[in-house]
Amino acid sequence: MSTSPAIVWFRQDLRIEDNPALATAVKRGGPIIPVYIHAPEEEGEWPAGAASNVWLHHSLSALDASLQDKHSRLIVRKGRSQDILEGLVRDAGAGAVYWNRRYEPAIRTRDETVKTALRDMGCDAMSFNGSLLFEPWEIESKQGDPYQVFTPFWKACLAKDDPAEPFPAPRKIPAPNDWPASLELDALRLLPGISWDEGIREAWSMGERAAAEQLIRFLEDAVADYDSARDRPDILGTSRLSPHLHFGEISPRQIWSTTQNHLAGTTGKGAAKGAEKFLAELGWREFSYHLLYHFPHVPNENLRDQFNRFPWADDEKALRAWQKGMTGYPIVDAGMRELWTTGWMHNRVRMIVASFLTKDLIIHWLEGARWFWDTLVDADLANNTQGWQWTAGCGADAAPYFRIFNPVTQGERYDPDGDYVRQWVPELANLPPKWIHKPWEASEVELIEAGVTLGDTYPIPIVDHAQARERALEAYNAIKNK
Ligand SMILES: Cc1cc2nc3c(=O)[nH]c(=O)nc-3n(C[C@H](O)[C@H](O)[C@H](O)COP(=O)(O)OP(=O)(O)OC[C@H]3O[C@@H](n4cnc5c(N)ncnc54)[C@H](O)[C@@H]3O)c2cc1C
Repeated sequence: MSTSPAIVWFRQDLRIEDNPALATAVKRGGPIIPVYIHAPEEEGEWPAGAASNVWLHHSLSALDASLQDKHSRLIVRKGRSQDILEGLVRDAGAGAVYWNRRYEPAIRTRDETVKTALRDMGCDAMSFNGSLLFEPWEIESKQGDPYQVFTPFWKACLAKDDPAEPFPAPRKIPAPNDWPASLELDALRLLPGISWDEGIREAWSMGERAAAEQLIRFLEDAVADYDSARDRPDILGTSRLSPHLHFGEISPRQIWSTTQNHLAGTTGKGAAKGAEKFLAELGWREFSYHLLYHFPHVPNENLRDQFNRFPWADDEKALRAWQKGMTGYPIVDAGMRELWTTGWMHNRVRMIVASFLTKDLIIHWLEGARWFWDTLVDADLANNTQGWQWTAGCGADAAPYFRIFNPVTQGERYDPDGDYVRQWVPELANLPPKWIHKPWEASEVELIEAGVTLGDTYPIPIVDHAQARERALEAYNAIKNK
């Protein structure tokens, strides 16, 4: 008797290599129906933003191409996931539905319901770990609690066995005799009506192959210097794998294993130190997912409830200036414009702009998180929440509140020649390095020579950092002492 078809439900695992759900379906035997279901309303309060949707469109297209290379294809649907899967199971006579887990609270609830419904139909519904090195429930403190501090968390992860070796891409993906109906990808309307996405398309190549190539490039060109260069937005010092990781075009297990293999083939201390630090950054990603899993309220609420009383400012004008990259602080404006144009921002600059919003402007971190959510191509509920709460001081293992980033000294330290600012704030390009991070201190002659008129060609700072810092500390003292 021939084996019934299996449905592989693709979600944030848009790859065919190291895809446990797909590998299990192949091993099971029988035809495979790969499906993507567009259901933004099931994402709770955080349906994908505009920049993420651009990436998703191209990533789905690349996945379909990879499947077609294996004589398969991607079936695209939109609507309620449970209804669509039940319909597909019935129509195709499928005996199994496999998928890789997601950890966002709304998605976990949905997936549980879907699993129960499919099992009630007699279907083998199973989920797998396709996007983390360690499941969030596998790591716990000696007391059996979740971790809230990174260092012991990562130590506990490293004490476990090494993550499993990745699954190779299947040699064959058997097709069903009849394919179910599919929408054209364009019908999902993921791309913008007016094409503001040119900068994103120019900056990135989407899809599984591009992700693998990007990892190799990073390991060959940059990992040896990663420890020192990772904080410099003016150089290509980091992997830029975050959107690929978010959409599952590459798995952390593949990164882990490729990095270890790369190290085995190189000599020199730099590579080992760089690789260790790089893998620890993957550890921060694991930590974010650990927190999201154990504290599912954190995307919308402070982890430390002491901050529920924080006197945030309601300042629409300042928020707009921040969003547009018009604060008058060059490193902040460069970051916000890089984000708007390419859908990405360097980690050091994310911390600087987030500190500026939440401390210099005392605007609620959720306003920043929402803006990032709409504009980042790597917008990720676990990482974005953790990044914002960490910077604002209300998260796990957060930066102490009084450590308020000074946007001038941060700029001078991490963009010493001002090249990053020059790239994204071209109206300041002719200023010498000495003034590029503080144009208001340049003399009138120097400003004229550089073609800068403060308040006209470039904004006067919207707040005075020293005064803003005092205001933030006072606000914090008010909640600290209660
Ligand atoms: C306010 C704020 C918001 C953020 N929002 C997001 C987000 O929505 N999505 C996102 O992926 N990252 C987010 N980050 C974390 C970090 O900035 C990005 O992961 C990193 O800049 C991506 O660049 P990369 O791939 O070159 O990183 P690398 O330095 O090459 O690091 C490798 C990978 O490790 C992970 N990683 C690195 N740093 C962190 C970190 N601090 N926390 C968690 N994971 C990390 C990422 O998956 C990254 O791709 C945020 C950070 C801050 C401060």
